[in-house]
Amino acid sequence: MTAQIISGKEIAERLLEAELQPRVESLNNKNVQPKLVIVLVGENPASKSYIRQKEKFADKAGILHETLTYPDTITEIELLNIIDDLNNDTTVHGFMVQAPLPDHISMSKVVDAISPIKDADGFTPESVGNLFLGEDSLQCCTPKGIIRMIKESGAEFSGQHVVVIGRSNIVGKPVAILALNESATVTICHSRTQNLNNYVAQADILIVAVGRPEFVHGDQIKEGTTVIDVGIHRTDEGKLVGDVHFESASKKAKAISPVPGGVGPMTVFSLIENTIEAAERASI
Ligand code: NAD
Repeated sequence: MTAQIISGKEIAERLLEAELQPRVESLNNKNVQPKLVIVLVGENPASKSYIRQKEKFADKAGILHETLTYPDTITEIELLNIIDDLNNDTTVHGFMVQAPLPDHISMSKVVDAISPIKDADGFTPESVGNLFLGEDSLQCCTPKGIIRMIKESGAEFSGQHVVVIGRSNIVGKPVAILALNESATVTICHSRTQNLNNYVAQADILIVAVGRPEFVHGDQIKEGTTVIDVGIHRTDEGKLVGDVHFESASKKAKAISPVPGGVGPMTVFSLIENTIEAAERASI
C-alpha cells in the first residue's frame, strides 16, 4: 500500500483561498481590518523563523499584523503591562506571546493575563475549558489544525479508535479531547504507558506528538491507519524529520502527514483563522 500524503501545506493554501480570504473580505466590507499581534521576547532563532511563517500567512490572508519585539531583560511586570495594553487595544483582535520565554518570566502567568476573546493561540484556561466542554471558542492551534487536516483527508472520526502518543497541554491532551468531541474512541499514551505497541497497533487514526525523532515505525502500525506526525526535528545531517519513520510508515498507512509540510502549516492556518474568528465575534 502506498499512503495518501496529507499535505498540510496544500490544505492550508486551499482553505486560505476558499475560506479565510472571503471571510476577511466580508469583514473589510464592514470596515473591520482583522489584526494579529505577535509578542516576541529575546532572540531565539527558531521563534523568529516560526514568526516569519505566521507573518507570511497573515499577509496572504489579507489581515494586518504586527510583531512586538522585546529584549530578554524585560521584566515579568513589564510584559504583563504590555498584555494589558493589547487586551484594551480595540484595533487588535488577536494576539499571542511566542514561547519560549526567559526563565524569569512565568508562561502560565502571561497566558492567564491574555483576554480569552483575543486568545489567538487558544491557550488561556477559559479557552481550554471551553474546548473540554465542547463549547464554541478559540481553540489551540496545533490540535485544531490536526483535526481539520484529518477531516480534509476524508477520514471519519465517529466510532474510530484514535490513539494519541503524548499528553502535553499544547498538543496531546487537547487533540485527544477534540477527537473525543468528534465521537472517536480515544486512547492517550505517554511516557509511562506500558505495552505502547498494543495501543499503537489498534489505532485507526494515530497522532504522534512524542518529541522523539522517528519514534514510531511502520512495523508498529496497522495496515490502513491514518498517521499524523506532529514532531519536528533536525538531524545531524540537517534533514527535517518527524516523530514517525516516514518511509516505513507510509508503506502501511492509508494516509500520512509529512514533515515538513504537514502539521506545521495547519498550525499557522489555525492561528490566522482564530484571529479572523475573533474579529468576526468582535464585529457582531
Ligand atoms: P512535550 O515534550 O511537551 O510532550 C511529549 C509527550 O510525549 C509527553 O507527554 C510524554 O509523556 C510523551 N512521551 C515521551 N516519551 C515517550 C515514550 N517513550 N513513549 C510514550 N510517550 C512518550 O512535546 P509537545 O510540545 O507535545 O511536542 C511534541 C512534538 O511536536 C515535538 O517534536 C514538537 O517540536 C512538535 N510540535 C510541533 C508543532 C507544529 O506545529 N508542527 C506544534 C507543537 C509541537
